[in-house]
Amino acid sequence: MVKGLVFPFEDLLNHTIVLEQEHELFRRSVSKFVSEYIEPYANRIDQEDKIPEEVWDSLKRQGFMGLMIPPEYNGQGGDNRSHVIFAEEISRVSPAVYVIVAVQNLFIFPLLLYGTEDQKKKYLPRIASGEIIAAHANTEPGAGSDVAGIKSTAKKVNDHYVINGVKTFISLGDVADVFIVSARTSPPQPGKRWWGITTFIVERDTSGFKINRSLEKYGLRGSHVAEIVLEDVKVPEENVVGKPGEGFKVVVETYDRARIGIAGQALGIARAAVEKSMEYALKREAFEKKLVDFQAIQFYLSDMLTKLQTARLITYWAAYLADKGSRDFIVAASMAKLVATEVAQELAIKAIDIHGGYGLMSESGIERLLRDSQILKIYEGTTEIQKITVIRSLMRKLYGYTPP
Ligand SMILES: Cc1cc2nc3c(=O)[nH]c(=O)nc-3n(C[C@H](O)[C@H](O)[C@H](O)COP(=O)(O)OP(=O)(O)OC[C@H]3O[C@@H](n4cnc5c(N)ncnc54)[C@H](O)[C@@H]3O)c2cc1C
Repeated sequence: MVKGLVFPFEDLLNHTIVLEQEHELFRRSVSKFVSEYIEPYANRIDQEDKIPEEVWDSLKRQGFMGLMIPPEYNGQGGDNRSHVIFAEEISRVSPAVYVIVAVQNLFIFPLLLYGTEDQKKKYLPRIASGEIIAAHANTEPGAGSDVAGIKSTAKKVNDHYVINGVKTFISLGDVADVFIVSARTSPPQPGKRWWGITTFIVERDTSGFKINRSLEKYGLRGSHVAEIVLEDVKVPEENVVGKPGEGFKVVVETYDRARIGIAGQALGIARAAVEKSMEYALKREAFEKKLVDFQAIQFYLSDMLTKLQTARLITYWAAYLADKGSRDFIVAASMAKLVATEVAQELAIKAIDIHGGYGLMSESGIERLLRDSQILKIYEGTTEIQKITVIRSLMRKLYGYTPP
C-alpha cells in the first residue's frame, strides 16, 4: 500500500526549494572571496600537499570557521542552504580547502544537538574566531561504515573517563586542537548493537593523546588525514556529549547533517568540470574546427550541464528541508550525497575526455577533479551506506518495516 500522494513523500510542498535574496548576496561574496584568496593557491595546494597559512588566515578572518555556529556563540549563524552555497563556491576551486570548514561542522553539530550550555560556551566562540581548530575522530582501523563496530573503550573512574583506542583517517588530525571522540562505555545490548557508545570532547594536549602519523593519500591533497592513538587518556565527566551509551545517535545525526555539505562539495567539483570543459571546447581546435563545433562534444557538454543542475536541485532541496525542520531531510540528504558525488566523478571523467591528453597533466587541474571526487563517495557515509539509509528510512516510514 502506497501511503503518500507524491510517493515517497507526503505532499508536493515537500518538493519546494526556497532561496532568498540574502542567499544570492552571500553567494556573490563567497565567490569574490574564493577568487581573491583561494584560487591563486589552488594548484599549489594539490602539488605541495599543503594549505598555506595565508589560506587558513583568510578563512578565519572572514568568519567562515563559524559558518554554522549561532550568533549567540559568535558564529555567522548560517543555515544549511548558505552552507551548500559556500561548499559549492569554494569546492569549485579547492575542495581540499572546503574540508577545513566541513570538519568544523563534525564538532559543531554534536555540540549544537547534544552539548551542554557550558560545552557550547567553552568551545563554539573559539572555533568561530579561528582561535582553535576542531576535528572528529570516530573511524577506526576495524570500523568505518559500521559505526557500532568501534572498539575504543572509555572506562568510568570516579568523576572522569579513561579512553583507550586507535582512530584513523582523521581529517585535520595533524592540526586540530580539540576532537569529538567516540568510544565504548559498555558492550552492545542484545538486539541493539549501537548501544553503549559514548562521545567525548578530547583536547589535543591531554596526556596519552598522540597523533601517530599523517597518511599519504590520493585526492584532496593539502587536507591531511591522521592516525590517532589514545592511551589512558583521562577526560572529565563534563566532557561527555549527550547521554552515556547514546553516542551512536550523536555520530549518526551529525553525519545526516554534514553530508548535505559534502553534496555541496561535489557540486563544486562538477561545476568546475563543466566550466573548464566549456572553456576548453571553445578555444581548442581539431580538424580546423573548434571542439565545440563537433556535435559529439556538444552532446557531452549538454549532458554535463543537465547532470550538474539535477545534482544541484536535489542538494538545495535537501538543505531546504533541513532548514525548515522536516525529518524528510535525512532521506533527501542521502539522496543528494549519492547523486551529487556520482555526478562529480562522472563529470570529472568526462572533463578528462574533453581535454584529451592535457586533461591528464597535473598542470591542467583536470585530473585533480577525478582524484578529489572519489573521496567524496567514501567519507560521511559511502555510496552504499547512502542507499541503505534511503531504503531503510522510507520502508520504515511508509510500511513500518525496517530491513535488517
Ligand atoms: C579522506 C578521508 C577523510 C576522512 N575523514 C574522517 C574524519 O575526519 N573522521 C572520521 O571519523 N572518519 C573519517 N574518514 C573515514 C570515513 O568516514 C570512512 O572511510 C568511511 O566511513 C568508510 O569506512 P571504511 O573506509 O572503513 O570502509 P568500509 O566501511 O570498510 O567499507 C568498505 C566497502 O564496503 C561497503 N560496505 C560497508 N558496509 C556495507 C553494508 N552494510 N552494505 C553494503 N556495503 C557496505 C562500503 O560501502 C565500501 O564500499 C575519512 C576518510 C577519508 C578517505
